Amino acid sequence: MPSAPVIPQLRINEQRMKADFDELALIGATAEGGINRPALSVTDVAARAWFVNRLEESGLTLNSDGVGNLSGVLPCPNPDAPIFLIGSHLDSVENGGRYDGAVGVVAALECARTIREANLTLPTHLEVINFTDEEGSWFSFLGSLGFTGQITEEDLNDSKRDNAAFRLALTRLGLSDRDVLQAGRDLSRYCGFLELHIEQGDRLEQAQAQIGVVSRIVGRSTYNITFYGEAAHSATISPHRKKDALHGAVLFLNHLYGMVDNDFPAGMVNCGDMSVYPGAYNIVPSRVMLRVEIRHEVESVLREMERYLVDVAYDCAEALKLRMDAERIIHRPVANLSEAMKATIEQVCEEMGLRYMRLPSYAGHDGQILDRFIPSAMIFVPSVDGISHSPLEYTRWESIVTGANVMLQTLLRTVYGDVHAP
Ligand SMILES: [Zn+2]
Repeated sequence: MPSAPVIPQLRINEQRMKADFDELALIGATAEGGINRPALSVTDVAARAWFVNRLEESGLTLNSDGVGNLSGVLPCPNPDAPIFLIGSHLDSVENGGRYDGAVGVVAALECARTIREANLTLPTHLEVINFTDEEGSWFSFLGSLGFTGQITEEDLNDSKRDNAAFRLALTRLGLSDRDVLQAGRDLSRYCGFLELHIEQGDRLEQAQAQIGVVSRIVGRSTYNITFYGEAAHSATISPHRKKDALHGAVLFLNHLYGMVDNDFPAGMVNCGDMSVYPGAYNIVPSRVMLRVEIRHEVESVLREMERYLVDVAYDCAEALKLRMDAERIIHRPVANLSEAMKATIEQVCEEMGLRYMRLPSYAGHDGQILDRFIPSAMIFVPSVDGISHSPLEYTRWESIVTGANVMLQTLLRTVYGDVHAP
């Protein structure tokens, strides 16, 4: 084992990381300066090929699984040693930015190369990973859900969605839905997961902090709410007989937004999807479907918001003599993340003289799926003007270098310390 003073001085090679970042940003580059690399697309496949080359050139051992998670392992001499996992995602949203995901992948790769070059023999294996479809072009968190063995036959054969195109896209990676179901890893071998990511908001910038220590990843629930009324002539129907489903939906949303503002100020609500039937200006709407999403960083409060949402929908339907159906589509619990690793990130920031702050992540990340099984942590670096999922997404290069060095030091301290720290 190397002497202790060697480790605190170890820094990544920023020129080499910059060369990687710039090269990767060319794959799927758009005229607006962003990238278009939806999961399993031709450009995603090209980014994967690039990543495989980089892993091989860096002397890492290639690894992949049934959901197409791609990784390179820096092995330690003891084959039974635990594995420490670092990485992020190469896929993007449609017409997204260059930084979301890519920063975490190139930083993880650079950490592994730096450790290898310094001839450090870690007490754990180090695995650098690209998770498939983090952005949910096909299936939100496909990679981390597959990795943790949480994708079921039911998910793949959900009769409400046509999975034919997804199956076809999987063949680009040489995979079938059978492979997806068998992607689960032996999670008892993993002792930690660490991800560097852009903040995607402007709280770090506002606070003039250089590093964000992610306190929690917020929980999220998505509901389909359907109001049923009765179609009728819009002008001749007597007011006391009128059953207007859209009126119910509008009343519901109005109450819901008010609820979050007044009773759950730390919560989030969004409705970005509404369908009105039969959809004619002179017919009273007979059916309105809304998809509503709520988020909160405290699981018990998220549950309370869920109850409130359904109660309010029910009350609004009753007040207007409508019928109402509420169906929970997705529930992703709050991820509390590893306290030990959060403390280590803070200690590293103190020693490096960096301004840091704790903040929750309102966006979802693979760490929220892994955290139930593997102690996980995330490091944020500032997004200029808080813009993300846009070609205008931008993070200063010096912020990325700082974040990568904090990541390197955090992972070294974690693997040399108590590797099973909860
Ligand atoms: Zn991301």
